[in-house]
Amino acid sequence: MTQRYDPDVETVVSGIMSGNRHMLSRAITLIESQRPEHEEKAHKILDRCLAKKTNSIRIGITGSPGAGKSTFIEALGEEIINRGLTLAVLAIDPSSRQSKGSILGDKARMERLSGRKEAYIRPTASSGYLGGTSPKTHEAIVLCEAAGYDVILVETVGVGQSEVLVDTMVDFILLLMLPGSGDELQGIKRGIMEIADAVAITKTDGEQEGIAAVSKAEFEAALRMLPAKHPFWQAKVIPTSALTGRGVKEVWQNISDFFTEMHNRNLLEEQRHRQLKSLLYTVLEEMLKKEFFSNPEVTSAVSEVEQQVLSAEISPFSGARTLMDAFNRHR
Ligand code: GDP
Repeated sequence: MTQRYDPDVETVVSGIMSGNRHMLSRAITLIESQRPEHEEKAHKILDRCLAKKTNSIRIGITGSPGAGKSTFIEALGEEIINRGLTLAVLAIDPSSRQSKGSILGDKARMERLSGRKEAYIRPTASSGYLGGTSPKTHEAIVLCEAAGYDVILVETVGVGQSEVLVDTMVDFILLLMLPGSGDELQGIKRGIMEIADAVAITKTDGEQEGIAAVSKAEFEAALRMLPAKHPFWQAKVIPTSALTGRGVKEVWQNISDFFTEMHNRNLLEEQRHRQLKSLLYTVLEEMLKKEFFSNPEVTSAVSEVEQQVLSAEISPFSGARTLMDAFNRHR
């Protein structure tokens, strides 16, 4: 039987830091693993990588399925590479990606960018999470930064929950919207607009070119109604097309301007500290929940307590108290 090659922490860390993509992928796989021995090793690697100071910038790219995210990332990625920078893309795992009822194959996704030595593309698993982002995405970002990538792009599907999470991990959020989707702003998208630092209207070419101006005015009006995310920054609406290249340079310029402003005001570090704090409590809450619901006393009492609450024998508050007591009895 052949022994599987299993490099030690030191080998993986030095591999990552010297730009070995294979080692980087390995480490991300360990991070995503649910197995305790993998988790332990992953965190040893991660702690070493955290110590490395980098100047990477983190950008979230979000939008509905079919909004043109992966195509736009290719176009923006080219622009980034042309500026002499390297980039890592934490893309949505195509196996978890559905569009118009059919699962899209991964072959067509970011094909051109995958072939560039300046780019690293990694579909991230996000089991149990909506939208392609999980707290582990942050750990993958840290590993990509240790590997020396200048720009980290994090792709998410705009479903609400994932944006709130991605907002604790990236410095800048670019929201992609289709032309003519202004009416979506009344519902779920409104929350997403609140955390957007810029909006790119996608696919403004061919027949769609005409309605781009109307959409731009609509989105701008919607943005003006929202509270400012940063007092010094007004989110811009930029018509783009990955097909013709329209607006792609402008988007990158806008992102660069944002980072200049953040640096000039020394705000980047402050924002990242706030994010780390928020992420700490998000992860902690998840751990507590998991521990609570896998506690044997709780699992054996939960259906009876639920029944008692439903038949108005006890209040939801007393029900919760009973389960809490069960948990405390057996920890
Ligand atoms: P995602 O689901 O948000 O990643 O969207 P995709 O990037 O996969 O794009 C969805 C569809 O829109 C694909 O068929 C693309 O070819 C098409 N598309 C993406 N960008 C553009 C664009 O700039 N112009 C046009 N005309 N079509 C585009």
